[in-house]
Amino acid sequence: MTNPQIILVSRPQGMPTADNFAYRETPVPSLEKGSFLIENQYISLDPAIRGWMNEGTTYIRGMALDAPVRAFALGKIIKSKNTDFKVGEYVNGLLGVQKYAISDGKGLTKVDVSKGKLSWHLGILGMPGMTAYFGLLERGQPKAGETVFITGAAGIIGATVGQIAKLKGCRVIGTAGSDSKCDYLKSIGFDVVINYKTENIAERLAQNCPEKISILYDNVGGEQLDIGLAHLAQGARVVICGAISQYNNTSIEGPKNYMKIVTARGTMTGIIVFDFLNRYPEAILQISTWLTEGVMKTQEDIYEGIKQFPEVFLKLFSGENFGKLLIKI
Ligand code: NAP
Repeated sequence: MTNPQIILVSRPQGMPTADNFAYRETPVPSLEKGSFLIENQYISLDPAIRGWMNEGTTYIRGMALDAPVRAFALGKIIKSKNTDFKVGEYVNGLLGVQKYAISDGKGLTKVDVSKGKLSWHLGILGMPGMTAYFGLLERGQPKAGETVFITGAAGIIGATVGQIAKLKGCRVIGTAGSDSKCDYLKSIGFDVVINYKTENIAERLAQNCPEKISILYDNVGGEQLDIGLAHLAQGARVVICGAISQYNNTSIEGPKNYMKIVTARGTMTGIIVFDFLNRYPEAILQISTWLTEGVMKTQEDIYEGIKQFPEVFLKLFSGENFGKLLIKI
């Protein structure tokens, strides 16, 4: 049996290119005691993968060269020499961009298929959904009546943050990069949506947000973060979730308006979703209940075939993805 894989052969300098990757088929090794074989069904394409391609360690070590690209994937156990992980069960974790993965179970979570569609467990019921849930509720501490401003709102995290904020009684404003994404965000309850490619964000905030921003949930960084900082309300909480506008730059630009934190008596905090691993079940239960009740929606953008990975991955940075970006194997 051979294993189709996408290998990282060189580290991107700036935007990744096709020659950073290679397609290979390698033999699947035999199982040792305690291990099991997973057949991946979906691969998750997340912006964080770009950071993991760099050398060095941040909150997680950089990916190795000449090894499968690190990515979350969801698969079915098809052979097992581990009594805790049985054939037929589904697991989710950093299984890599490959069809088959061998694991001893460390770092994997079992998927409760009763909680929603299989692919959702890499999106709204997976790592991005957990980031939205804990990032907003634990770091943002929303209160009814407050205004939440979300950058990168049409991404899986932004769209989920916005819907949770609405369920908590907040007013929600978001930015997105196309009119069709803006229309989608309005259809799921956003009060104001700003197309950052065609509209002036600062002007739209001045007109539509006289009460100012109590929670700034930032997925984008750069200019959008700066504009949000300039509109903070007293006691505002700024949640730094990501900085997708900066990931392909050789150095990250810091915010110019950070002194607004002082005058607003605000706070700026980061979130790393992995710090909430032991609380994932409570978030999965709550989000799946909202999905079942029809008060929350999610959108997916699914491509077929592992060979397409390099091309599809770049859609994250051009904004061509519309919903949670996945590859189905
Ligand atoms: P996503 O669904 O993959 O969407 C990414 C979106 O970002 C794109 O569709 C694009 O939408 C927008 N974008 C791309 N380049 C941009 C640019 N230069 N300027 C402005 N917008 C740009 O993303 P996600 O999974 O929701 O992730 C959102 C953020 O959260 C990322 O920064 C990610 O790294 C971060 N994150 C953090 C954690 C954590 O634990 N802290 C965990 C997961 C993810 P438009 O068409 O609207 O431009």
